[in-house]
Formats: sequence, structure tokens, C-alpha cells
Amino acid sequence: MVKQKGARPLVCGNWKLHHDAAQTRRVIRQLNGLLADQKEVEVVVAPVAVTLACACATAGRGPIAVAAQNAWWASQGAFTGEWSVQHLRELGCRYALVGHSERRALQGESDALVARKAHACLRGGIVPIVCVGETLAQHRQGQTREVLDRQLGAVLRPLSGRLARRLVVAYEPVWAIGTGQAAGPDQINDTLAGLHRTVSGHLGEAVAAQARFLYGGSVSPDNAREFVRQPYVDGLLVGRASLRAESFARLVCRVALVSQESQR
Ligand code: PEP
Repeated sequence: MVKQKGARPLVCGNWKLHHDAAQTRRVIRQLNGLLADQKEVEVVVAPVAVTLACACATAGRGPIAVAAQNAWWASQGAFTGEWSVQHLRELGCRYALVGHSERRALQGESDALVARKAHACLRGGIVPIVCVGETLAQHRQGQTREVLDRQLGAVLRPLSGRLARRLVVAYEPVWAIGTGQAAGPDQINDTLAGLHRTVSGHLGEAVAAQARFLYGGSVSPDNAREFVRQPYVDGLLVGRASLRAESFARLVCRVALVSQESQR
């Protein structure tokens, strides 16, 4: 069965540890201007945590939504250095990245912790963008399917269908992040179709049809189109190419063109 494209494509820029408050304000203002009339694509940026308040205030009611790059699973308590989903809501964030491979690798985040964070987001009204992806070694050993099933399965197993409908899953092969070596469009489509089947197997096809599946890893304005043309690609998670407003806006406009074409 070939998937019918549903909601507007979602394009999220992950700013990682880049941009201070002034740069954050400037880039969001520029995006507000460049994308003011753009309605085809849902555009999100994920700035550094300590600039989230300024990012949300600058984004205001404009075309850009704001994501956190992380969120803790408890609402309060002895968790030094963390912030909760409720804090994000208070600021006006709508999304949070969860389980980015850099956090899995550098902060040792386990599948179980990622799942708790994703559940806290869903319960608290923040849309989690759950990142999954295999390393180069796992890719070479043909373990991609197994790794993704384990990472996503941990999130899906204890979830109810009602909560899971808002889930966003981002497939980001670790070997494609920041390397300039994006995965091929066919491989991405097959992998996202597999993730769709995983959600459907756990929670039913109705839930899988409403969840969204993104690709991330060396996406640029030049290659974005070929990815979002794939039937199972509902959007993109973009690192480096999202840092400058002109490049990110160009990428978004190319995704918008594909979305318009597919509606004709
Ligand atoms: C990312 O880190 O989520 C990412 C996709 O980075 P890049 O686009 O730079 O590969």
C-alpha cells in the first residue's frame, strides 16, 4: 500500500549549540519576514535552551513554531540542570526533540529514558520529535531495522493510541548527521515505511496514519526536494542548513513547492 500524504510537511531546524540570544532573535525575525506568506509547510526551530524564552517571544504568532532540544520527564523535583514539559508550555514551545543521537551518544541517554521523556511530552501537550537512527557500524552490519525497532519500540510499547497520534518520529542515521553524506531517497523511504509499520503494528494503522515521519541527516536546500517527494517522508529535521535564515527559508520554499505539486 502506498501512503497518502496527509498533513502539511513539517520542517524543523535543530540549532544545536549555535546562536546566542541576539542571533536567535535575528534569525527568527528574518524567518518571520522571509516565510510570512508561506502556509504549505509547518516550520519549527529548536534553539539553545537558555534562548528559548527569547525565541518564543520573537516568534510570537508568526509562521515559526519553537521546539526545545530536550525535556525532562518529571514535572518537578531534585533534577538539577533539567527543565520540564510544563516549563516549555509556559514559554510557548510546541515541540521538543527527544533522543537526538548526540544526546544518546554524549549524555548516555538510554531507550528507556528517551521513552519517558517522549511520554511526558505527549501527556503535557508538547509534541515530541523522537529521533532514532543507527550508527555507521550498525548500518554496515545490517542492523538498521533491529536498532530502529528497539529505539522506537521502547517509546511505543507503553503508549495509548490516543496519545501517540501526535507523535513525530525522525529517522536520522548517525552516519548522515553533519557529514554531507545524506542517505539515499529510496533507502529513506523504505526505512520510514518500516517505521510506519512499526507504529501500526504496536498501535494500529489509524495511529500510524496520523503520526508523522521525518528524515534528518545532511539535508540542504539542494537535496530537500528529492526527500520530501518520497511518499513516506512527512518532513525533515535539518541541522547545519537551518542556521542561516536565507538557507533555511530556501529549503522550506523548496519543500513547499513539492507539497503544492503533490496536491495538484
Ligand atoms: C541533526 O543534527 O539533527 C542534523 C540533521 O544535522 P545536519 O543536517 O547538519 O546533518
